Amino acid sequence: MPHVTISRRGAERVRAGHPWVYQSDVVTADAEPGDLVRVSTEQRRPVGWALWSSSSQISLRFVSTDRDLDEATFWRDRLTAALDYRRSLAIAGNAGRLVHGEADRLPGLVVDRYGDVLVMQTLTQGTDRRLADLANTLVELVAPRGILARNDPKVRRLEGLDEQVAVVFGEVPDLVEVTEGAIRHDVDVRHGQKTGLFLDQRENHLAAAAYGHGRALDGFSYHGGFALQLAAACETVLALDSSAPAVAAIAANAKRNALANVEAREANVFDELRELEIAEQRFDTIVLDPPAFARNKSAVPRAVAGYKEINLRAFKLLEPGGCLITCSCSYNVDEALFQDIVLDAARDARAIVTLVEKRMQARDHPILLGVPETHYLKCLVLRKIG
Ligand code: SAH
Repeated sequence: MPHVTISRRGAERVRAGHPWVYQSDVVTADAEPGDLVRVSTEQRRPVGWALWSSSSQISLRFVSTDRDLDEATFWRDRLTAALDYRRSLAIAGNAGRLVHGEADRLPGLVVDRYGDVLVMQTLTQGTDRRLADLANTLVELVAPRGILARNDPKVRRLEGLDEQVAVVFGEVPDLVEVTEGAIRHDVDVRHGQKTGLFLDQRENHLAAAAYGHGRALDGFSYHGGFALQLAAACETVLALDSSAPAVAAIAANAKRNALANVEAREANVFDELRELEIAEQRFDTIVLDPPAFARNKSAVPRAVAGYKEINLRAFKLLEPGGCLITCSCSYNVDEALFQDIVLDAARDARAIVTLVEKRMQARDHPILLGVPETHYLKCLVLRKIG
C-alpha cells in the first residue's frame, strides 16, 4: 500500500483545513505518480488520504482525513455529491460547472456541462491517471452525448503531463448550442478560452442585466457574456475585445439572438476608453472584466496600475446615476485591495461612488474556506452618484 510520511508542519496545515502539502513537508514517500496514498506523520499518526504527485511542488492533495477510504466507491460518491449540489442550484440555462476541483473535494478535476456535452480537465497526475474511469462514471451518472477531455491548460506541465485535447466518449460537435438565461450561445469547446465560456461569470451576467440602462459599454467582452444580457435592458451596447475571433463571436451571437442594438468592435480597451473620452462619449452602464492582470505575486504592482487605469477611465465616461460593474479574476489581488484600487480610481476621476453589491464567482464554482486560492473572482457593482 503506497504510503507517505509528512512533517508536523504539514500535518498541522491539513488539520487546519488546507488540502495541500508541499514537497518541503514530505519526509518519506513510497508511491507511484498519481497514487492514492495513506499519509501519516513521522510518529506514525494517521493524517488521511491524498493523491500523490511525483513532480509538482504540491506533492499531496488531500481527499480525506478519515482513517479508512475505499477507492472502489470513493470517486463515484464524490462525483454524485458534486452533481447533486449542482442540481440543487436551479441554474438558469444548461451550461455550468459540475465539478470544481478542491471545492468538491476532487482536487485536480474540473467538469463543465455544455448542454448534453461534458468537458473534463484532469490537471494532476492523480486525476489524469483515472481519466478513463472518471469519464465512464460520468457517462453512467449524467448520460451525456459526448465527453471532451480539454487537457491543454499549462498547469499540467507542473505535473509532468503533456497538453492534449481528445474526445473520450461519444460525439462532440464543433459548436455546442447552450443557453444562459434567455440568451443562446454557440460554444467551441475545443478552441474557446477556458472550456469554451466564462461559466464563472454566468450569475454576474444575469445580475448585470438588472442594473443595465441607457447606453452600455462592455469592455473585455469575449463572446458577449455581459453585452448580450445587457442588450434587452439597454438602448445600445458597445462590446469591445482585442481578439478578432471573439469579436466575430459577439456579432454572431447578437444576430442569432436577434439583438440589433449590440455593436462589437475589435479594440484594445485601454486605448478605446481614452478615445471615447476624447470624443466626449458617455455611458450609463459600463462593465469591465479584464483577463487576470496578476498571474503571480511579482505582477501585482503592474496589475494594480492596470486596474486603476481602466476603472478611472470608466468613472470619467460614466454619466451621473450610471452603473459600473467591475471585475478582477486575479486571486493575487484580493477583494480588499481591489476595492482600494477602485476607490483610488474614483477619487482621481473626482467621482462620488456608492458600492451597491459585492459579487463573486457563480455558485457552481464555490470557494473552499481556508483556501484563499479558490476565491479568485471579484465583481463589484458601483453607482456614480456625483
Ligand atoms: N467578459 C467575458 C470574459 C472576458 S475574458 C465574459 O463574461 O464572458 C477577457 C477577455 O479580454 C478575453 O476575451 C480577451 O481576448 C480580452 N482582452 C485581453 N486584453 C484585452 C485588451 N487590452 N483589450 C481588449 N480586450 C482584451
